[in-house]
Formats: sequence, C-alpha cells, structure tokens
Amino acid sequence: MNEATVAFLRHTYKEHYFRQSDAIEFPDQIQSREFGYIPFGGGMVRHLSFRSSGEAIAEILRQAPSSVYASNARYSDPTLPMEEKGWLGAELIFDIDATDIPTLCKKSHDIWYCDKCHASGRLPKPATCPKCKGSTVEFHGTCAVCLQASKEHTLRVIDFLTRDFGVSPGDIRANFSGNRGYHLHVYDRRFDQLDQTGRAELADYMLALSLPPSQSLASLLRRRPAARSATDYGWMKRITSYTQARSDYRGTLQKLVSEAVSTQRALIDASVTTDIHRVFRLAGTLHGNTGMAKMKVTSFEQFDPERDPVVLGPERVMLKTSFCPKLSIKGETFGPFKAETVSVPTYAAISILTRGFGEVA
Ligand SMILES: [Zn+2]
Ligand SMILES: [Zn+2]
Repeated sequence: MNEATVAFLRHTYKEHYFRQSDAIEFPDQIQSREFGYIPFGGGMVRHLSFRSSGEAIAEILRQAPSSVYASNARYSDPTLPMEEKGWLGAELIFDIDATDIPTLCKKSHDIWYCDKCHASGRLPKPATCPKCKGSTVEFHGTCAVCLQASKEHTLRVIDFLTRDFGVSPGDIRANFSGNRGYHLHVYDRRFDQLDQTGRAELADYMLALSLPPSQSLASLLRRRPAARSATDYGWMKRITSYTQARSDYRGTLQKLVSEAVSTQRALIDASVTTDIHRVFRLAGTLHGNTGMAKMKVTSFEQFDPERDPVVLGPERVMLKTSFCPKLSIKGETFGPFKAETVSVPTYAAISILTRGFGEVA
C-alpha cells in the first residue's frame, strides 16, 4: 500500500467519521473497557482506555483508523497488560460468519491467488504457487446466499437464547459485522461472570456438538414425544417436533434425527464466545477491509446486508489494479480486474484498496 493510497483511505474514513460520529455506539461503563485500533498500513494498537465517548470520538477523528475495537469485558484498569487488568465481567458474545457455514456457492467466489504472479484457482489453497512458487493467499468473497445463511444462523442463535435459555429479546443487541456476518451481544447479567468453560458449553450446545443422539435414544424420544419431560424443551423438543412432523419420512431414523440437528444447529464461531479477553469492532464504525459499516440490526426482516451497510459515497475513483477477483457490493459486480486502470465508486474502491488489490491512480 503506497502513501497516496494510505492518504486516500484515511481521508475517506475521516470524512465519514466527521459526518457520522453520532452513529458510533459505545458500550456502557466506557472507562472499564479496553479499546484498540488498527491504522491503515500499520499494526494493532491495544490496551487503550477512554473516559468518555467524546474522548474516544476525538481520537477516532485524529487517527482515522482502518478498524476500531472495544472489549466486551470490563476491567479495573484496561490499560495494563492482560494479566494485570483485573477482569470484572463480560457480556456474552456470538459471532456468526459465512466463513463457518458451508454454503455451496463458496466455490464460485472463494479463491486462492498468488501474491507474486497473480495466478489463482479454487480452494483449497496450495502451499506455494504452482507457477512461480510464490506465497499464496485465500480470498473469501461473498454473495446473497452467504449473507442469507449468516442471517438465518443468527436467528437460530437468538432462538436458542430466548427459548432455551430464557434471555429476554430486549437484552440481545444484534449488529451486522460489516463483512459477511453478525455479532450478538447479550446483556443478560446472569452470564456476566461466566468463565471460559461455561461459555464453551453454551457454544457447544448451539453447535450441537454432542448431537445427534444415539439410535437408541432417538427411538426412545420418538416413542413418547408427548410426555411432559425432558422432551418438552431444548434440543430434545427440537428433535421430537421435527421427527413428528415428518411421519411420512421413508429413510432411517438416524438420518432423520441427523437432519433435525443439522437444520437447527447454529454454526457460530465458538472461539469468539469462549475468549473473554477479546476486542470487537465498535458498532457504527467502518470495517477495515470492506468500508462497510458495522451496524445495529433492529429488524432482521427489513435489514438488507447487501445495501444498508454501504455508507460510503458513489464518487468515482481511478485505481490501478494489479489483480482483483470479482467483488459483489451493493448488488453490483466489480471485476475481476487484471493489471489495468479502472474507475469505480468510492464504496467499491475501499474494498479493492484495503485488500491490497490496487493503488489509487
Ligand atoms: Zn505465482
Ligand atoms: Zn456465497
């Protein structure tokens, strides 16, 4: 990334924050949170702390960074090294991303490419480029199918939280990640002190890691599904309702139960839920690789992940691309580009530049 490109990116993000700083959502107890950011062309800066949202906004405007993060945990002193921060508690978090959901369309938009000669191909990525032995990089594209899948799995998590764990819907804050998924923050105080093992258990439950049940347990469940027992809630209810509704099913019971599990499990990233020292992109800020906003979702029915998070303008920018795979933004397709000069809207230019596929011309 050359200096002119870094300057353009900083300028674009700064302009955006200058106009839209009201959209940034800060967690409560701001003084107890750890903040961090990644400058364009630089490495992560962590262990920061702010006394107020005004102080944080001033710093965001000054730095115009590529990404801004805050912890879900609260600490006695967020600026100290991790072991000395004094962990006070943390909201429960779920990360749902198209990367973790095996959609069939991936083979059409996920590729590997060579850093050096720009050879490319379908995943899995070879260790070195078969043409020039250069290093290879994975590129994960996105599409309407992937975005719909991550929305559906997010709704499954909300369903587990509200129906199986009694979380009030008002305590769940949902955000589009700014790329291909969603983050859920759960402000239910019962989970605040939960350690990593407890959080892992919740993640395992949603992923159905110990399911499907054995053949014998499955037939037992099917035999007496109406009894008021363990089958009346949670996974057992989910499985019995599913198998009962399919009384015409001709295949084996094992297969039917597997289907009941695979169509209802939520493919979350468990490592995010279990890590209690993580920082998360701040809602209302721009994603460092896409230029799209991480934003609050109030209605999943109305939210359009292809258009709503595209908050940067349509002003055209001239770019010199080196190599750029096909990108889908705001329902439009950009690329694939070879070594050429192209004119694209600002919201697409950001995606190309931040991923290192070109420089400003
Ligand atoms: Zn190569
Ligand atoms: Zn897709």
